[in-house]
Amino acid sequence: MERNEHIFIVRCGEVALKGMNKPYFERMLVERIKKLLRKFDGVSVKRHEGLIFVRADISLDKQAIIKEISKVFGVASISPAIECESTMESIGEAAVEYMMEAIEERGVKTFKVEAKRADKTFPVKSPDIGRQIGAAVLKGCKVLKVDVHNPDCLLFVDVRREKSYIYQDKIHGFGGLPLGTNGKGMTLLSGGIDSPVATWMMAKRGMMIEAIHFHSYPYTSQRAQEKVEDLASIVATYCGRFKMHVINLLPIQEQIVSNCPEEETTILVRRFMMRIAERVARDTGCGMLITGENLGQVASQTAEALVVTDSAVSMPVMRPLIAMDKVDIMDKAQEIGTYETSIQPYEDCCTVFLPKHPVTKPRLERILESESKLDCEGLINAAIESQEIINIFPQ
Ligand code: ATP
Ligand code: MG
Repeated sequence: MERNEHIFIVRCGEVALKGMNKPYFERMLVERIKKLLRKFDGVSVKRHEGLIFVRADISLDKQAIIKEISKVFGVASISPAIECESTMESIGEAAVEYMMEAIEERGVKTFKVEAKRADKTFPVKSPDIGRQIGAAVLKGCKVLKVDVHNPDCLLFVDVRREKSYIYQDKIHGFGGLPLGTNGKGMTLLSGGIDSPVATWMMAKRGMMIEAIHFHSYPYTSQRAQEKVEDLASIVATYCGRFKMHVINLLPIQEQIVSNCPEEETTILVRRFMMRIAERVARDTGCGMLITGENLGQVASQTAEALVVTDSAVSMPVMRPLIAMDKVDIMDKAQEIGTYETSIQPYEDCCTVFLPKHPVTKPRLERILESESKLDCEGLINAAIESQEIINIFPQ
């Protein structure tokens, strides 16, 4: 049979568990998939019988489409499939055709059929479908043998009311929840390894993203900021375009350096970052802040330092990496494609006035006392007034 389209069955993992919200989540997921596939001509995305079907013109690159779909949060797995009439004869023919291809492309020698019927009125029961289709394949593909324990190819047969589907692979997606189903967060994005991963993890749970980045120009270079924009646009391939607020922290850092104890510099700067981020978050409808902080990683992320940083703001701060090991964060960065950009050696505003011996166990009273020497409100307002807003587009 001549086929004129690729068919992909897309499954939504957790989305399926959401009871009454299920149709809403599924609709959001379909919208997201449509959006990401918009760059291809001749693609349709539809919900049907509890599954999502993507159909694409046969001239399109199958792998490129799979790659795009697998980036959509909420997608648990994808199976390239073929479709046939729901009769034993058609299913048998389609199964033979499918296995012929598997033999040609991958030298498959053994197989096992896994059959299920979503349509309980179908006259043949699942185990019998399996046996009969297995027999049809053996007859049609003489080189194949059945191996029920360790087959080269598991052939799934999914019998549904209108049509039936045959497929083999389940390609894993990232899971999570469709974007836009869980509010909006303001992420503090640096040029490091951690914050892009933290941002990605929150977006994976359905959170829309807006970002804020601090620099200390001219101590930090234009190129350092471009690196952050590059990172942001990699993150945007998953979470769609977003705005990034760019703020020069240098005037604040200079005030801190000339008025406060040197060892407190980092923690004081961090509290300013949080307060500015919170203010911008409120102005832009974000309900939470997101950081890449990680317990114990550096002096400013000890348990005591995190308490002092946290108490600068009242908005909830999400720290999705808090208990991860650095190696696992690095693996994640590799997986999502931010690692290579993150390790490019550019200066960050935090390293500009790095104290020789930063406090690792700051006490809030001492920090508040140091801050009382500064015009915090004035400095924050001035920083926000001078912000630049950049639109970040998917890479
Ligand atoms: P990262 O790898 O994300 O830079 P890090 O381990 O270097 O993290 P810090 O530099 O202490 O740790 O920063 C902790 C968190 O504070 C970052 O994950 C990020 O969320 C935020 N942050 C740090 N520097 C900046 C910056 N220049 N602009 C915006 N946010 C920042
Ligand atoms: Mg950093």
